[in-house]
Amino acid sequence: MVKSNFHTHSTWCDGRDSPRRMVEAAVKRGFTALGFSGHSYMECEPGYCMSDPDGYKAQIRELAAEYRGIINIYCGVEQDMYCVHPPVGYDYVIGSLHYVCKDNRLYSVDCDRDEVCRTVREEFGSDWLSFCEAYYEGLKHVVQRTGADIIGHFDLVTKYNEGGRLFDEHDPRYVAAWRSAADALLKAGVPFEINTGAISRGYRTSPYPSEDILRYLAAHGAKAVLSSDSHDSSSLDTGFGEAEDLALRAGIPLVDFEQTILGRTDKRINRV
Ligand SMILES: [Zn+2]
Ligand SMILES: [Zn+2]
Repeated sequence: MVKSNFHTHSTWCDGRDSPRRMVEAAVKRGFTALGFSGHSYMECEPGYCMSDPDGYKAQIRELAAEYRGIINIYCGVEQDMYCVHPPVGYDYVIGSLHYVCKDNRLYSVDCDRDEVCRTVREEFGSDWLSFCEAYYEGLKHVVQRTGADIIGHFDLVTKYNEGGRLFDEHDPRYVAAWRSAADALLKAGVPFEINTGAISRGYRTSPYPSEDILRYLAAHGAKAVLSSDSHDSSSLDTGFGEAEDLALRAGIPLVDFEQTILGRTDKRINRV
């Protein structure tokens, strides 16, 4: 079982627990590494974001020093593709897209269900597939725009689609949309996340992305990083067992993110 997590939120953004509580919980679980990934600041929706990234970096660095020899602590960021503040001074970047862009306006795909439904109704003529197409069209640029080391929750647009209740994930239009984003992103050679966050928060029973997408990515040489997108100390490894089984079924190798990415010489400069 994977004993690390690099997608972790805390009270510096929209997480429930302090970094220290998260670290203590990770140590209790026998983790060897924990990476924090506070949300980058979005002017359009500041509520869930880090308003003091310098304070965040300082505290994570202090904890890293304090816990050296017990657990490796890293300071990363979950950088939204539309964030205008460059991700400087972090050990790594999770590149994520939480919005669809229409007529130069951003609409969240990660907010509450009613608001997403309203966006689809009012901005996309109730056509969920057209909403998904806009999402994947944007997602194509996530690595280039964020400098991502990990591609976050690839099919976040399925957040409320458990059991296909809003749209058919086998519809050729939907498949063409995600494949086109996958093809664009595969060229970057950056690992994709298998993200169990929607399981611990009760939105879904399976991780992002779907098994179909994982199979496609695997067939095209992609690798994956397992992460919990944890927002509290009880969910640091929620669903990891099932997600590892899923990776095995889909034939996608899990990378040791700490070894392969954070171990790179050009990444060491930011380390404690
Ligand atoms: Zn996210
Ligand atoms: Zn996250």
